[in-house]
This record gives sequence, structure tokens and C-alpha cells, in this order.
Amino acid sequence: MTLTPGDPRLLTPGPLTTSAETKAAMLHDWGSRDDAFVQANAGLRRDLLEIAGASESHVCVPLQGSGTFAVEATLGTVIPPDGKALILINGAYGQRMARILDYAGRAHDTLETAEDTPPDIGALAERLAHDAAVSHVLVVHCETTSGVVNPVAEIAQTVKDAGRSLIIDAMSAFGALPLDAAAVPFDAVMASSNKCLEGVPGMGFALIRRAVLEACEGNAHALSLDLYDQWRAMEGNGQWRFTPPTHVLIAFAEAVRQFQAEGGQPARQARYAENCRVLIEGMAEMGFRPLLRPELQAPIIVTFRMPADPRFDFQVFYDRVKDRGYVLYPGKLTVAPSFRVGCIGHLGADDMRGALAAMKDVLAEMGVPSGAP
Ligand SMILES: *Cc1c(COP(=O)(O)O)cnc(C)c1O
Repeated sequence: MTLTPGDPRLLTPGPLTTSAETKAAMLHDWGSRDDAFVQANAGLRRDLLEIAGASESHVCVPLQGSGTFAVEATLGTVIPPDGKALILINGAYGQRMARILDYAGRAHDTLETAEDTPPDIGALAERLAHDAAVSHVLVVHCETTSGVVNPVAEIAQTVKDAGRSLIIDAMSAFGALPLDAAAVPFDAVMASSNKCLEGVPGMGFALIRRAVLEACEGNAHALSLDLYDQWRAMEGNGQWRFTPPTHVLIAFAEAVRQFQAEGGQPARQARYAENCRVLIEGMAEMGFRPLLRPELQAPIIVTFRMPADPRFDFQVFYDRVKDRGYVLYPGKLTVAPSFRVGCIGHLGADDMRGALAAMKDVLAEMGVPSGAP
């Protein structure tokens, strides 16, 4: 697999660097109702279920748009109008689910912790014990805001013990962090083409427990976001209801083929973990400090505290690192000024070393001796 010569390396949470082969897969046209495309779609849906060990229990429903479209569609389809959600929030993507439910008109409560703190399992159990109206619990697997990994297995067990339904936004973790339907009982998981599976942006998907989705007719608040309708139509003739992102889907199928050839989730996690280790070690040598304690850090994206040196200007730093071929990512924290560096995408440890060398160079140019906060 190869990079596209001259393209910057994207150290971002997506869209991210894709292989040249994945981009090359888009150099054709497909009829959306033609058998070749119908077969590619069916194969991709099967592969995505397999990644989560969910082939028997769940169905895969793809949807046009960025990841948020898949989240919005899943929440609106799976949570009935008279349901009530409890959202575990420790970052912007948890907050976004609350906004989605406001638009959809679904009752919801939140259980919030700081951006560097996973949800409190005891508090969750207590909330579920005391609020019989809560039908669904919503959580983000890796909160991309900080890069924190939330304990979805423990959360899933707590939710199951309380007899409620769990929905996981696994957007930035799917394919890289373990998520097995047998070990983590979930009713729905959402992810997209352009994160750890290294496809191009343009489509998302949900894995939804078949028995749950079968009972979701009439729940959705919008036709284009109705995953029950999307699923039924696709089960019928194998086709998407409305114009599918044909090129995106074919590139996604090619990216998933490369994912499998690499060794699937364990291999993807190992490569990203090595990227993350090299990054954090190299940044520490320059004085930069990550926000999170190591045991909370997902090998997806790392938040660094903003250096204290008054000569450090993030926009200048960003621009000059970009000139050297590496694209960083601004911070999104509310608790502290920060910036982020992604570990995901079609990149390896040598790319991380290249990025570190570029950052070191730029710091020297700026006259900043240390990145310490
Ligand atoms: C990327 C991401 C999304 C979706 O964001 P889009 O910009 O709509 O693709 C949702 N949740 C998490 C945790 C994400 O990282």
C-alpha cells in the first residue's frame, strides 16, 4: 500500500490519510441499480457486521452523509417518540447527541463528567435504578474531543443488567478498538467510512440488533433518516432508497479489504498504538504534555496542552508544520487550551517520526525551547 505523492499527511481524526489504492478505486462509475454495485454493497455490509462479531444478531444499515447523519438517523429510528434517553457525556460528541434529540423531540437526561474523565458506572447504575422512564443509554466509545476511551464493556453490562437498551457512537474507534457484540451487548453502534477503517468521507452506517430494528417502523422523524425504511428497502432489492455515494462505497469496500489483509482490528489497533506511543514519547522530549493519563488514552487522537511559552503561537506552528507536509488538528476542549494530533489513517511510525521532526524544526524556528504547558 502506498501514499499519494505530494499529499500532506493528515494527523487528524478524519477525514484522514487514505492509501493510493483506496483513492484509485474511485476512478470508475457504477450504476446504483446495477448488479455489480448491489453485490459490492451487500459484501461491505456483511464485512462491517463481521468486524463487530455481529453477523448473527445485528443488521448493517448504511446511510449517505458524514458520521453525524448516521448518529441522527440511528437515534431517531431506534428511540421511539415516547422513549427517553440517558446520555453519558464527556465531550462534544456526547453533547451533539443531546442536540440531535432536541431536534428529534425525544426526552433525554444527561450524566456528565469532565472531558478527561470517563463516565461513573456507579452513578449510571443509580440513575437507571431511580428513573424507570429511561429506555436507552447513549455513550461515545472514544470521545474524539479529548481522545479518552470510555469503558463501553462495563457500561454495556450495567445497562443490560438494568434491562435497558445501549446505543454506542463508535465513530472514531470502530475497527481499531475491540468491540464485539458477544462481549459488549449493544442494540446499535454507529460509525463512518472515514475514520479507523481508512475510507474516504461520505457515508456512515449503523449496526442494529435485528429484533430491535424490526420493531422500529414509524419511529423516525425524517424520511431520509429512517433506517427502518432504508433497511427494509435494501432487504427487498439490495439497493439504496436514494442516490448512494457510489464512489465512496467502492473506495470503502477497498479500504475494508486492506483492513482485512492487514490483520483486522488487532493489527489496526497495534499500528495505531505504535503511532501513539512514538508520538507521545517524541512530544514529551520536546516538553509537550498530553491531557490524559495513559490508561485513559485511546490510540486514536492525542490532546496536548498548549505550551506556556509566550512565543508559541498555534496558528503559526500549524501553518509551518503544514508547510512541511503534516496537518495537525486544533483543540476542542472546554477545560484547557489545547491542540490535537491524530494517530489514525494510513500512516505508520515513520510518518509520526517525520511529523515530530517537523514540529521540532518549527519550535526552534519560533524560538520556543520547550512545549511545556
Ligand atoms: C467524527 C465523529 C462523529 C461524526 O462527525 P462527522 O463530522 O459528522 O463525520 C461522531 N462522533 C464521534 C465520536 C466522532 O469522532
